[in-house]
Amino acid sequence: MRYTQYFLPTLKETPGDAEVISHQLMARAGMIRKVAAGIYDYLPLGLRVIRKVENIVREEMNRAGAIELLMPAVVPGNLWEESGRWQEYGKELLRLKDRKETNFCIGPTHEEVVTEIIRGTVNSYRQLPVNLYQIQTKFRDELRPRFGLMRGREFIMKDAYSFDVDDAGADISYEKMYQAYRRIFERCGLKFRAVEADSGTIGGTSSHEFMVLAETGEDAIVSCDSCEYAANVEKAELNAPVGDAPAPSQPLGKVATPHLKSIEDVARFLKEKPSTMIKTLVFQNEHDEVVAVLLRGDRKLNEVKLCNFLGCNHLQLADEAQVRKTTGAPTGFSGPIGLSCRVLADQDVAVMSDFGLGANEENFHLTGANYGRDFQVEAFVDLREAVAGDDCPRCTGKLEIWRGIEVGHVFKLGTKYSETMNATVLDDQGKERILVMGCYGIGIGRTAAAAIEQNHDGNGIIWPMPLAPFQVIVTMLNPNDESVFTAGEKLYQDLLDEGVEVLLDDRDERPGRKFKDADLLGIPLRINVGARSLKEQSFEFQERRSGERIMLPIDGAAATIAEQVRTALAAG
Ligand code: ATP
Ligand code: MG
Repeated sequence: MRYTQYFLPTLKETPGDAEVISHQLMARAGMIRKVAAGIYDYLPLGLRVIRKVENIVREEMNRAGAIELLMPAVVPGNLWEESGRWQEYGKELLRLKDRKETNFCIGPTHEEVVTEIIRGTVNSYRQLPVNLYQIQTKFRDELRPRFGLMRGREFIMKDAYSFDVDDAGADISYEKMYQAYRRIFERCGLKFRAVEADSGTIGGTSSHEFMVLAETGEDAIVSCDSCEYAANVEKAELNAPVGDAPAPSQPLGKVATPHLKSIEDVARFLKEKPSTMIKTLVFQNEHDEVVAVLLRGDRKLNEVKLCNFLGCNHLQLADEAQVRKTTGAPTGFSGPIGLSCRVLADQDVAVMSDFGLGANEENFHLTGANYGRDFQVEAFVDLREAVAGDDCPRCTGKLEIWRGIEVGHVFKLGTKYSETMNATVLDDQGKERILVMGCYGIGIGRTAAAAIEQNHDGNGIIWPMPLAPFQVIVTMLNPNDESVFTAGEKLYQDLLDEGVEVLLDDRDERPGRKFKDADLLGIPLRINVGARSLKEQSFEFQERRSGERIMLPIDGAAATIAEQVRTALAAG
């Protein structure tokens, strides 16, 4: 590709709404362009990277025995009504009506559609297992679309769905996908971890997320410093504390705490540590159920654990009116004593005694409170978020915390969809069996963005070779110089003959500008063609990542570079 004939609208300025580096660099490098919130054009350079990710995904899915098809993006609402998700799925589902007033949605995921295919075509165990996948544009009306392709509303996903006659078969299908995912992200040249994850609203029993490690990741992940255990913080189980609470030694007291609402302020005022106090959070879920949760003052609630315990999909902190109604006091003074709603406590609370908490009265807290003597709870549950240094739930090691970007997800779905949608086959005994499903997603655009989060420097992107939009950039320092032009053109043609993907910077621009652009675009290998080095029968060759420059003899240069590209791809 010749730069002068390409469509590569780079930007000097970073768009104001680009908060994370991948979004900034993708916009500046002319890869994407915003059309509306969470909706982007994939410009030619961006599309090249998207295609690279897609091709790796496609090859590995095919190799693992999955079969590609393409389902519609616009899905009839009645399928979603059959599964129950028309009601269950929140506002992320973009619902629309056609001219006959029939309900449709734009598919955010395709369990219903694929289940309909299978139930209409497969009726014997002999036709199983089958794993169907597609690479397709999805729509989710995300509450906060942001970070460019990382969390868009419209985005490209690879989604696969496996169907087996029993659990044992489904486990094998799952394992194949798990291994295929490992190969995919290894081939992309990314540092990643597969972590145990929460199964969320999609239902099911077991799942792993594939996380690209990056400081800017939205997800926190724990891993054990001594065993293989790794999990999303949402999921990370914690051991129950050992021992019992010390016997109460203080009477219940009441202290005025005017305008002190946060646990830190109250603790400071009482000359206590937050860890010796209890905070009481009042939540509401989608069934309008109100529940109070007690936590050690220095702990954070893990809302996913609470949702799972309550069997709900959505939770929010109760609003001021609801807090007043439930506790009789404004937010900041809640406590468990005398509450009429359900009260749950994190398991760590079970070993505490003589603690401070809210009095359910404006401007007052209580001291010397004790569980059992002063109040009851419905249950002690593992409800808090893991922190670095917590004990590993699997061994005697300690948990470490780092950040990651979820690029892929494998789920054991079980029979959630096959049961409600009546997808069955006859087994080898002629008995009717409900199909056991798995579903497996990869965010194509998010993977490209995550690659940038992990691979960049102050000057721009540093593509891993397997994802690079071009593998080599040939920069003519002064294309008006005939010797430079001729040598540059020849090298360009020779590289093309070697099967290398080359961008030829033939623009009539200052070399400094060209170097800056090359760094921004992140093309892994650069060759500078300049009059001075040509006199010495050589090119200047530079690696984007190390910045190292060497002189390369003109003779055999294309073959040497092609070899380096192939080596880097194989290492991928
Ligand atoms: P998240 O927790 O980030 O919202 P999810 O659990 O909703 O992700 P899945 O339903 O498992 O995601 O979708 C499969 C894959 O699709 C994800 O692993 C991710 O890579 C990608 N993905 C999901 N939502 C988006 C989005 N809004 N923009 C870009 N990619 C997305
Ligand atoms: Mg989501």
